[in-house]
Amino acid sequence: FETVVAAVRAHAADNPQAMAFTFGDEVMTFAELDAGSNRAANGLTALGVQAGDRIAYLGKNIHLYFEVLLGALKIGAVMTPVNWRLAVPEVVYVLNDCQAKVLFVGEGFAPLVEQARAAVPRLATVIGIDTSDGAADWTDYRSWRDGFPADDPHREGGTEDDAIQLYTSGTTGHPKGAILTNRSILSSRPSAVAVEDMRPWQVPIPGEVTLLAMPCFHISGTGTGLGTMFAGTGAIVLPEYDPTKALEMIENYPISKIFMVPAAIQIMLNHPRVAEVDFSRLKFITYGASPIPLDLMRAAMDRFGCGFVQMYGMTETSGTIVTLDPEDHVPEGSPKMRSVGKPLPGVEIKIIDSEGNAVPPRVVGEIATRSTKNMKGYWNKPEATTSTIDAEGWLRTGDAGYMDEDGYLYIHDRVKDMIISGGENVYPAEVENAIYSHPKVADVAVIGVPDAKWGEAVKACVVVKPGETLTEAEVIAHSRQHVAGYKCPKSVDFIPALPRNASGKVLRRELRAPYWEGMD
Ligand code: ATP
Ligand code: MG
Repeated sequence: FETVVAAVRAHAADNPQAMAFTFGDEVMTFAELDAGSNRAANGLTALGVQAGDRIAYLGKNIHLYFEVLLGALKIGAVMTPVNWRLAVPEVVYVLNDCQAKVLFVGEGFAPLVEQARAAVPRLATVIGIDTSDGAADWTDYRSWRDGFPADDPHREGGTEDDAIQLYTSGTTGHPKGAILTNRSILSSRPSAVAVEDMRPWQVPIPGEVTLLAMPCFHISGTGTGLGTMFAGTGAIVLPEYDPTKALEMIENYPISKIFMVPAAIQIMLNHPRVAEVDFSRLKFITYGASPIPLDLMRAAMDRFGCGFVQMYGMTETSGTIVTLDPEDHVPEGSPKMRSVGKPLPGVEIKIIDSEGNAVPPRVVGEIATRSTKNMKGYWNKPEATTSTIDAEGWLRTGDAGYMDEDGYLYIHDRVKDMIISGGENVYPAEVENAIYSHPKVADVAVIGVPDAKWGEAVKACVVVKPGETLTEAEVIAHSRQHVAGYKCPKSVDFIPALPRNASGKVLRRELRAPYWEGMD
C-alpha cells in the first residue's frame, strides 16, 4: 500500500467485520473505521479544513482518535496529538505553534482547554469526544460525525505529503513539532516491507491482537495504531498506561504484542497480580524510548517468558530505526545485550565526530541516520531543521554512541547529557547502571555539577527502596566496583523520586538546574 488510507480501504473491503480497535466495551470494525473516518473527513471539509491544515487532539487514548486521524489523512489534513500532561501555558504553546483550526478534546480536559482557549486565537472549532463537561459552544463528536455522508472523499494523498505532526517529548527543551510524511510513517510497516526482509516479530500473525497502552501523543502510541491499521490487525486501546488494566486485558484477550517503555515494564513487574497472570499468549514485548537497566530486562524475560525486542528511535525518525531482536536477548548474558541492536532494513546509521566525519567501530560519537523514515523537518523551525538534517539527508539524533564490528549500536546517552570531568567523557547511563545494581537502590540519575577542579563533577541522585537506608560512601564504594574511578560519583543526593516526563524519561535538566543556576 502507498498510504495508511489505502491500506484501511483495502482491509475494510476484504475483511469488513475484522476488529480494528476495541475501547472498553466498544468494538470498531475495519468497515466502521473506514466509514466513520469518511464522515469525519467530510465534516472537516465542511469546517473549512484543507489539505496541509493542522488539526489537534488533546485527551487520553481513545479509538476515535484514530478515526479522526484517518479522516484527516483522507483530506490531506495533518493530525497533531497534544500531550495531555502538559500545563496550560505548554498547551497554549503547542496549539499556537501548530496553528490548529480544529481541536478535538477527550473526556476530562474541558477545564484545561477552556483555560487555554483565549490565548489560542486561531482555534475556530472545539469538538468534544465523549465529554460531558465541554463549554456551551462545543460540538459533540459522534453526532457531528453522523451528520455527514460516509462517501469516500477520494483524495489520494501523495507519499511526500505531510501526514502527522508529532511533538518530541521535550526531554532536552521545548517540544519540537516533527513533520512526518505518508512515506515516513509507512516505511517500516509490515505492508511496506517485503516479507523476506521482515524480522520474525514484524510478520503479522493471523488474528493478532496488540495492546496499545502507551500515549498517542508519543510516537509509540500513534505508531502502534498506525502499525495495526496498516497490517489490518486489531488493537485494544487503553486510555493510559495502568498495570492493573493491562494485566486484565492480557487475561481477557488473545494479546500477542505490547510495546512498553522500561518504566512501564518495571511497574507491571512490581504489580501484586503479576504472579497469577498467564502470559502464554503473549508473543512479543517490544520496549524502548529510554535505556533499560540489564537487571530489569532479565527480570522481565524471566517473568513474561515471551520474545523481547528492544527498539531505538525517536519522533524525528517516525519511531523505531534499530532493534535488538529476541535471539540477542540472552539472560545468562551476551555482549550484545548492552546494545540496542541493528538497523532495520533500509535504515543507515553512522557515528560522527564533532566535525561530522564518520568514525571507526567502537569509537563514541554522535549517532546519525538516513532512511525514508526520517521526518521532513521541524514545523516552523528552519534553523533547527538545517542543523538536524544535512543536504544528503543524514539526521543527527543528538544521542551519543558507538557501533561494533558486527553492526550493533550501543547508546551512550544524549550528547547534551555527557559529563566532561577532568577532560574525561562520562556517560550517565553507564554509571546509573552500576549504581542501579545495588540492591537498596530503587532509582538513580547521574548528572554533572560545576566543580572548580574538574570542570564538572559526577553527582548521583539516588532514590532508596522503601524501608532501606544507604549512605553516600556506600554508593561511591559500590560504583567503584563496577566502573572506573573518574566515572564514580563524587557526591550523592538522596531524593524521594526522580522527575520524569510522560514517556518515562528522566528529566536530567531539572536535576541539574539548581546547581547550574546563573552558570550555563
Ligand atoms: P526532546 O527531543 O524534545 O528533547 P526526546 O528526545 O526525549 O525529547 P523522543 O523523540 O520521544 O523525544 O525520544 C527520542 C530519544 O529517546 C532518543 O533520541 C534517545 O535519546 C531516547 N531513546 C529512544 N529509544 C531508546 C533506547 N532503546 N535506549 C535508550 N534511549 C532511547
Ligand atoms: Mg529528541
